[in-house]
Amino acid sequence: MSAEQPDLRARFEAAFMPNYGVPPLALARGEGARVWDLDGRAYLDLIGGIAVNSLGHAHPALVRAVSEQVATLAHTSNLYLHEPEVRLAERLLGLLGTPGRVFLCNSGAEANECALKIAIKYGKTHGRTYFVAAENGFHGRTIGALSLTGKASIREQFGPFPVDVRFVPYGDADALKSAVTAECAAVFLEPTQGEAGVVPAPEGYLTAAREICDATGALLVADEIQSAIGRTGHWFAHQADGFTPDLLTLAKGLGGGMPIGAVAGFGAAGTVFDKGDHGSTFGGNAVSCAAAHAVLDTIEADGLLAHVRRAGAHLAEGIAAIDHPLLTGVRGRGLWLAALLAEPKAAAVQAAAQRAGFLVNAVQPDAIRLAPPLVIGTDQIDSFLTAFPAILTEAANA
Ligand SMILES: *Cc1c(COP(=O)(O)O)cnc(C)c1O
Repeated sequence: MSAEQPDLRARFEAAFMPNYGVPPLALARGEGARVWDLDGRAYLDLIGGIAVNSLGHAHPALVRAVSEQVATLAHTSNLYLHEPEVRLAERLLGLLGTPGRVFLCNSGAEANECALKIAIKYGKTHGRTYFVAAENGFHGRTIGALSLTGKASIREQFGPFPVDVRFVPYGDADALKSAVTAECAAVFLEPTQGEAGVVPAPEGYLTAAREICDATGALLVADEIQSAIGRTGHWFAHQADGFTPDLLTLAKGLGGGMPIGAVAGFGAAGTVFDKGDHGSTFGGNAVSCAAAHAVLDTIEADGLLAHVRRAGAHLAEGIAAIDHPLLTGVRGRGLWLAALLAEPKAAAVQAAAQRAGFLVNAVQPDAIRLAPPLVIGTDQIDSFLTAFPAILTEAANA
């Protein structure tokens, strides 16, 4: 490592609030599924900015769309409308296949804030006073989104929260049924829990959640901020899971690296807000909308949904076939997987992988998250599968 990396890390530490700690690596540029650090060393990017860089780095379609839009009209505020935002909302509804309405914002937490405000308003007009969410679920760091987040270590010190949220064990349909009454305004669930370590819902859980919400009149909110836009090999994870939520939130992969979030409300849930109820100055920003169009165009033109299903199965099967004492299995679907460890050595695996030229994410002490760009090649996946046993051995001995 040259002097540049330690120097930049020291400056980061001095200039930034300590909330992130100091990241282990400074990246300089990327191309496809590869990135280079400040010293010119190459890595295969198997985390893609946390499931954000759907087209990888510097994809020509994204570069062109963003460059042309910023040179034409970058921002209008919501005092004026523009064509890219209207077409994006129409396009998302078309991919969703259910009549509804869209709100555009800038991040995942902001999408969940919007969904929560819709649910609060719906609750107030129907005598519904509380919300249900899942233990270990993650919905974001702002106060509304954090109040729905079922992870004590990140929420407790910031409470009490302005909304009454009751937590149930994820995947337990009976517990959900007991928790959701006619006073419940909405249930917030991830179709697969991302930050918890890519934990898929058990078979039948999400359709049971739909039935429970239908029976009681609670809104079902699917947080697809991490799972949407091809990540699982489907446009939206809930389409493969066989249920339709009332509200859907998305963000991460939609802009391919440009900040954009969205909420879709289906049926009556799309028109709970009245004029003046909500807003976002940057929401629907024309450059981010252009980026989202480039992502959607490329997924369509390059057949990336089928590629994600094939490449994801290849990666999962390759991991499952590795016989190593530190590795106990793999879960998830599409290009959204967690390799499971016999011991809480994920941080050591992440560090060993980095030394070997692979960026992976220690999402839990015993789980390694892989969420590579959707464009990753099979040969690139194979290079990781070949290197992974030695990485595990190095971590086991660390
Ligand atoms: C990342 C994430 C969020 C928060 O998104 P931000 O853009 O970081 O605010 C919310 N929910 C889920 C499921 C996520 O993965």
